Amino acid sequence: MYDVIIIGGGPAGLTAAAYCLRKRLEVLLIAPDLGGKANYRMHLAGLEGFEHITGEEIVRKFRGQLQYLDFARIRGMAAKIEAHADESFETFTVFTEEGNRYHTRALILATGVMPLRLHVPDEEMLLGRGLSYSAVSHAPLFWERETAVVGSGDLALRSAAELALVASRVVLVAPEGLPDHPLKRKLTGQQNVTILEKHHVTHIHGNGYVHAISVRSPEGSEQEIPVSGVFGELGFRPLSDLVQGLVELNAEGYVVIDDRCRTSRPGIFAAGDVTDTYAEQVLIATGEGAKAALAAYDYLLYY
Ligand SMILES: Cc1cc2nc3c(=O)[nH]c(=O)nc-3n(C[C@H](O)[C@H](O)[C@H](O)COP(=O)(O)OP(=O)(O)OC[C@H]3O[C@@H](n4cnc5c(N)ncnc54)[C@H](O)[C@@H]3O)c2cc1C
Repeated sequence: MYDVIIIGGGPAGLTAAAYCLRKRLEVLLIAPDLGGKANYRMHLAGLEGFEHITGEEIVRKFRGQLQYLDFARIRGMAAKIEAHADESFETFTVFTEEGNRYHTRALILATGVMPLRLHVPDEEMLLGRGLSYSAVSHAPLFWERETAVVGSGDLALRSAAELALVASRVVLVAPEGLPDHPLKRKLTGQQNVTILEKHHVTHIHGNGYVHAISVRSPEGSEQEIPVSGVFGELGFRPLSDLVQGLVELNAEGYVVIDDRCRTSRPGIFAAGDVTDTYAEQVLIATGEGAKAALAAYDYLLYY
């Protein structure tokens, strides 16, 4: 029986594991990789070395701290979680895709989110080479560059508003049109912003780095727009299926947590992007992972 099982090896899960090990808990980390989405990095022509935090650096530092992690880690995917009533506390069983099962007193879910893809040619190839799914992370890198944002909701409007402060041009392509929103009113008529409602991006062009997008109008005509940055802002899918029915999720499927990363079910904690906490950022996920580990430790003191 483990004290804590952590599911997910991104910044939140790795930090939680480091804290649990420091507290000398019996801990198991289940993840197919180490680093999660901190392994992504944005490369831009003429801008190498400007990004002040890289995923590789952070993961390397975690690895250095976690010298015992190899003994407390399974490479694989968790497939199912079951809760069992005990005398006063529940215990949990985690089943892996390989068919193994592990028992624990407490769980930390740190499985992150998947950005919704644009499903256009060359998307995979240009990810991190001008194509981003996170204006929060990358907008400042596009200082005085021509950019496009793709999306029809609040996230796309927010990203366009952030880019409009730094980029020389922002083309907001909203396939489904835009809601009546204060940011839409602010962006409309702004000198460096073009809004294309009901238009669709059909291709991202790039030879090493993004250099243009093709956009189709509602009437069916195509135009090529030169840009060096494309922000896919269709939204995220939180990877919370494992705890569906076990803990409270919000309307978008994020795990609802309190200020100590506790979910609605005692013994299950969550951290990082999969939760309803503010902003998807490596440093925020790291801090939340530390908090979840300390909260799990406090929970176990009463066990
Ligand atoms: C393209 C891109 C670029 C980004 N750039 C930056 C940046 O420059 N700066 C910045 O601060 N933030 C950036 N972000 C955001 C940042 O990467 C995330 O906020 C951060 O990685 C979240 O950490 P996390 O641990 O919550 O989740 P993740 O990093 O998503 O890690 C989730 C982990 O859970 C694992 N997992 C998922 N499901 C299962 C399962 N069923 N069983 C076991 N393991 C599972 C995954 O394999 C992974 O190890 C970027 C995000 C993206 C998508």
